[in-house]
Amino acid sequence: MVEAPLAEGIVGRAISRGVLDVRVHDLRGFTTDRHRVVDDVPFGGGPGMVLKPEPLFRAVERITAEHGRPGAVVLTSPDGPKLTHAAAGRLRDLEHVAILCGRYEGVDERVRRHLATEELSIGDYVLSGGELPALVIVDAVARLVPGVVGDEQSVARDTFARGLLDFPQYTRPADFEGHLVPQVLLSGHHQEIERWRRREALARTLDRRPELLADATLDEGDRALLNELVQQRKAGSDGR
Ligand code: SAH
Repeated sequence: MVEAPLAEGIVGRAISRGVLDVRVHDLRGFTTDRHRVVDDVPFGGGPGMVLKPEPLFRAVERITAEHGRPGAVVLTSPDGPKLTHAAAGRLRDLEHVAILCGRYEGVDERVRRHLATEELSIGDYVLSGGELPALVIVDAVARLVPGVVGDEQSVARDTFARGLLDFPQYTRPADFEGHLVPQVLLSGHHQEIERWRRREALARTLDRRPELLADATLDEGDRALLNELVQQRKAGSDGR
């Protein structure tokens, strides 16, 4: 479930170039019984099964013995704090991170209390396992590792990186069934294009996620543009 996606795209290339090292561990390999059982019924009764603590503790012990203690042991959990750009940046700064994937009804509470150093949720919905969340975390963190995305500038400009949403992108054709690309992008005037993009990024952030502006990195020019946009919206003349 996780190995195939890890072989693809930007993350796959980073792994094959040796910029990233991602190891996948099967919990069944850390069981001691003949049937390699990783789950058991909940104490107190109720439906479903719970992931036993031993395989997870043993897995992290093995990882620690082989690669040193992870800087973070992240438990994927729908009730944890949400994964954000900032959280991804924090994990990026660590040399070695372990991510634990739950299944069934979740993991034995002692894993959360005594093994995980933090928890992360990828959103307010419940998935059937921690594998997809782990892949999401790996992808988000990997993009921030220097050398993983070919063009560093594209990462620096991404939505959230500067505290702003990204500006709209267009590619050929310039006229798609009568829907035209904004003229300025075809003009070849780099300064005007840059200004248009800044304005669009600010407008989008103002309209969709105004709370982000409080922490955004804005220069004088941005502030002036933002003021203009706010005034326009007050006057109701923007037509959006
Ligand atoms: N009964 C649990 C849900 C368990 S879902 C509850 O209500 O909280 C099974 C596993 O999937 C979890 O242990 C976790 O590892 C993973 N998971 C499910 N949804 C997730 C989400 N939104 N973010 C991160 N991990 C999630």
